[in-house]
Parts: sequence; C-alpha cells; structure tokens
Amino acid sequence: MSTPTLRDVTSCLSAYDPDALPVRDAQRIIKEFITPVNAVERVALRAALDRVLAADVISPIDVPAHDNSAMDGYAFNAADLRPGADTTLAVAGTVFAGRPTDLVPARGQCVRIMTGGVMPPGCDSVVPQELVAHADAASITVAPGVIKAGDNRRFAGEDLKAGGAALRRGRVLRPADLGLLASLGIAEVPVQRRLRVAFFSTGDELRSIGEALDAGCVYDSNRYTLYGMLTRLSCDIIDMGIVPDQPEALEAALRTACENADAVLTSGGVSVGAADYTRQIMARLGDVTFWKIGMRPGRPLAFGRIASNGSSAVLFGLPGNPVAVMVSFYFFARDALLRMMGAEAALPLLRARSLAPIRKKPGRTEYQRAILSRVPGGEPEVRLTGAQGSGILRSMTEANCMVVLHDEQGDVGAGDLVDILPFEGLV
Ligand code: AMP
Ligand code: MG
Repeated sequence: MSTPTLRDVTSCLSAYDPDALPVRDAQRIIKEFITPVNAVERVALRAALDRVLAADVISPIDVPAHDNSAMDGYAFNAADLRPGADTTLAVAGTVFAGRPTDLVPARGQCVRIMTGGVMPPGCDSVVPQELVAHADAASITVAPGVIKAGDNRRFAGEDLKAGGAALRRGRVLRPADLGLLASLGIAEVPVQRRLRVAFFSTGDELRSIGEALDAGCVYDSNRYTLYGMLTRLSCDIIDMGIVPDQPEALEAALRTACENADAVLTSGGVSVGAADYTRQIMARLGDVTFWKIGMRPGRPLAFGRIASNGSSAVLFGLPGNPVAVMVSFYFFARDALLRMMGAEAALPLLRARSLAPIRKKPGRTEYQRAILSRVPGGEPEVRLTGAQGSGILRSMTEANCMVVLHDEQGDVGAGDLVDILPFEGLV
C-alpha cells in the first residue's frame, strides 16, 4: 500500500480550511493518512499485557474440556426427581476436581461432586450441598422444586470452542485476555512490536527539573505528561529533552527523532509566535500541514510526515500549553499511534448531568476538565474543576473526566446532560 500524501487525504473533504478545521475533520484526515507499521514479534504471555495482538488466536481446545459441576453438591439424573414429592437418592461415590473416575451411577443414585469435577455418565444436574434437605454418607433427600434439570452443569466448550476465534487481532491485551490465553495453554503470543516514539519540548523559556528556574522561565512539564501518556500506550519512548528555539537545533533534533522513531511528538512552537521556528523547519523536512483546529484548549496543531536520510516518521507538532498538549494527545495523537500499532480504540463517551451552567460558543469543540460523582441512589453528575485555562495543569490533576462539548453545541444549562470522557476505567 502506498502512503498517501496530505493532499490526497485533504482533497476528499468538501470544505477543507486548515485555518478553521473542525475536530472531526482533523481526526478523519489523520486516520486516513496513517498506515499501520505491521512488524510482529512473539512475546511470553505476561509480557503481552497492554500489547496489540498481531494475529487472531484460534482456540486449540474446548474450554472446559468436559462437562463439569459448577457447585459442590450431588450430581444426578433429573429424570429421577419425583414431581411434587421428596426424592431420595443413594450416594454411589465421590468425584473430585481434576481426578476423573470411571464411576457410573445407576438410575436412582447420585454422586457427591466438587466444583470442577467431571460430570459422571448419565448425570445432567447438580444439587448444591446447601440445598439438600438431608444428606449422610449413604443417601440424600431433595425437596420438590429445589432443583430443575440442567442446573449447575457446565458444558464442555461453553467458554471457548476448539477451532473458534478466541481473540481477534488488533486487540490491546487486557488482564482477562492473558487469563483466557492461559486457559488455552498458550505460552507465547504474536504482538505488534512496540511503536518507537521520540519527543521533545521546544521553548527558550523551558528549564528541566534539577536546573535553576531563571527569571521568566518555567519548568518543562509537557515531557512528563507525554512520558506518562506514551508509556500508558506501551510505546518505546525516546525522550530528547528540551530543544531551544534555534533553527539549527530544531532541525538537528527533528532529523535525529525521525531517523530513530516511527512517530515524533513535539510540544510548543506551532502557533505564530516570533521565535517559533518549529513550523518552518517542520515544513522543510516533509509533508506537514499546520492547522488551526476549532477546539479549546489546543488550537494549533502540526501534522504530517517528515523524512531524513531515508527514514520517515509521522509528526505531531502539539501546542505548548500544558493542558492543550494533553488534550491534543488524547484526541488526535492517541488514535494515530494506536492505528500505527494496528489497534483501534475508540474513546467511550458517557452521559452525565451538569450540576451548573457551562458557557459554550457554538462552532468549536471544548474539552472541559471536570469531576464526575454520584450520590447514593442518584445518577452521574458532573461539575467543572474551576479555571479552565489551557495553562492550568491543575485542572487535569483535579479532574477525573473531561466534559466534551461538541461543535454545534451552545450554552449548557444546569441539569442538562453532557457527554463525558472518564479518565479511569476498570481495566
Ligand atoms: P508555545 O506554543 O511555544 O507558544 O507555548 C505556549 C505556552 O506553553 C507558553 O506559555 C509556554 O511557556 C508553555 N509551554 C510550552 N512548552 C512547555 C512545556 N514543555 N512545559 C510547560 N509549559 C510549556
Ligand atoms: Mg514556544
């Protein structure tokens, strides 16, 4: 597959204006421009956590391998139950989990069975031991209506069938998937190789932690949020530090990044400030476009592909403001990186009631930081974390979700439902 140019993908949009680009158009262009990296490696099962499965896994066996009991109790044939009266069954023996026997109970008999024990021939139901009216070593008595045919019997292959697809490629492997693969006896998994992502911060005003904070300077926080976000995506990261606003330094850094990584992320320098040489150099090194996206925070974004000495890399020139860099990462770079890894992971938007009015101008997408809560018996409610400036990183740490106010949306009234993106999930 030949890699498309930005012109190829933007020409499909009916009204493409890089200076007023809606979020969804930017997302669409990015999606069409990105091609998967497609390089596979085999890793041990535990090392596959959070990695992208590179091939469908076909179940080699039935799981469970045989019909078995879901409870500690007594297995029997439901045809032996006396309708409307007590049933007494003789105990023919005991079956333990993992210790199959050749016990074949006769009609009118039952078998004491432990959870996971293989169902003896002729038995189709299990009465849990706590539901038996009377039991001793020789017999049990079951009251009418306590149990019906098929209760507490697990079927061979009810979890996974031999020859069936257990997991599909493109999946980011979660704890349950590791367990599922283990249940199939699979020790090694084909996964996409880790994506290599290089990143650096630009700005003469930036200082690294450990350095003195000179007058007019700020510590570089973007490299740390980017480190965290990329690590969560299981990328191999190359932290290139701070690059000053000097054309030669920027060019050298972009070239090194491009020669060593699949994707390059920078922060700062993509708006129109006087010292922002980043744009010129990026444009010189490849097929790069500079957008003003209809969103808040995070309007400026550079996107494309840069090349140096025969290597190329996808480029995201993220804005400099600390909240803007995170929002742009989550809503643009994250999808692109996952796509390069062969995975698709749409962000799940939920709905919650806004506790207070929110001012919102139609014509742009806003990502407001907020706290989702729920009083007992109530429904999910959301309130903003206070000042929403794109430099106020505290708004991200205090928040547990973002309220997503879409392009066409206007002011939100107290009690209105809004879309939210929670930060934490179970897995
Ligand atoms: P810029 O996009 O380069 O004009 O930067 C916008 C704002 O973000 C400026 O106030 C910068 O000081 C700030 N900024 C840029 N990069 C960083 C960074 N790595 N860490 C913290 N603040 C930054
Ligand atoms: Mg700057």
